[in-house]
Formats: sequence, C-alpha cells, structure tokens
Amino acid sequence: MEEVKIESSVLQLMQGDITEQDTEAIVNAANRSLLGGGGVDGAIHRAAGPELLAECRTLGGCETGDAVITRGYRLKARYVIHTVGPVYRSANPATERLLESAYQRSLEVARTKGIRSVAFPSISTGAYGYPLEEAAPVALRTVTEFLRAHPGIERVRFVLRSSTALRSFEEVLGQLAP
Ligand code: ADP
Repeated sequence: MEEVKIESSVLQLMQGDITEQDTEAIVNAANRSLLGGGGVDGAIHRAAGPELLAECRTLGGCETGDAVITRGYRLKARYVIHTVGPVYRSANPATERLLESAYQRSLEVARTKGIRSVAFPSISTGAYGYPLEEAAPVALRTVTEFLRAHPGIERVRFVLRSSTALRSFEEVLGQLAP
C-alpha cells in the first residue's frame, strides 16, 4: 500500500475491494435513487446485506454531488457514506465541480459523525464514464485539500479495483506530493 502524509493525516492508495475495508466508513458511488445499482454499489449492498437497502429506502434519494450516511450492517466498516457522482459527457467545469463536491460532501458527512478513517472508490469512473486520467486529479486534489484543513480525518484510503486505476492515481499523487 502506497501512502503519503498530509499534515497529520495519511492518504493511502491500494488495489482491492472496498467492501473488505476496515476503515470506519466506506464510500459508495451510488445513484440518485439510492436503491442500488451495479458496480461498486451492487458489491456494497451484497456485502452489507438487505438491511442496507431498507435503510436507504427511508432516505428519499440523494442529489448529484451530495452525500448521505447509513450504517454498514454486515460490513467491517461501521458506516456507508453514499455519494452520487456526475455522469460524464465531456470535459467541462460543471461536471468537474460535481465530482469535487461528491468527495467534499462525503468527507463533511464523515466529520459530522466524528469518523476518522474513510475509504473511497474512484467515483464516476465506471458506469458514469468519467475518464480516470481526468477523475484522479480531481479526487486527489479535493481529498488532499480537505485533509489539510481538517486534521480530524486521520486516514483516507483510495481502493482501486484495477491496476490501471491504481496506476493513474499513483501517477497523479506523485505529482501532487513528490
Ligand atoms: P459510477 O456509476 O460512479 O461510475 P461504478 O460502480 O460503475 O460507479 O464505478 C466506480 C468505480 O468503482 C470504477 O472504477 C469501478 O472499477 C470501481 N469498482 C467496482 N467495484 C468495486 C469494488 N468492489 N471495490 C472498489 N472499487 C470498485
């Protein structure tokens, strides 16, 4: 696992499955209905069990760029933070701001619960089509800035499914924090 210090916090990159992480919270790349989907969303619901969907049904959805929190049920993580990233159509500032907001709001929600460790997948880079090379800098910049401002979050771990995704994030992190 690659890691760098950001002030008093740690930012980690690894290849793996986010459903297996033992951070206090894991982040779900959900859709606005919060009623389940494919990709990482499907994997999280399968691992957490049906109680997760039952709690999600009570929440009434989530806007793009926002985040909501539930319990983690059968997961190792105590909480799941569900965020909705943008669907990518072309490179433009509004889409980028929504991706930034998905990371930012997830960390803000974590802070309201006093959560100190959070694992993220690469939001929007699956079914939502955001190119990895464009998403990785947004993800890493947003999280890095948040950690500098909020030392209460002690650890953020990016859990990338593929070696290609891990490499994209590693390259960008190397430029951000040489
Ligand atoms: P989105 O709809 O936001 O694009 P997806 O779930 O389709 O969400 O994909 C987001 C990213 O999560 C993709 O890069 C995909 O490879 C990755 N992913 C899928 N399953 C897992 C998993 N179990 N753990 C970590 N990342 C995953």
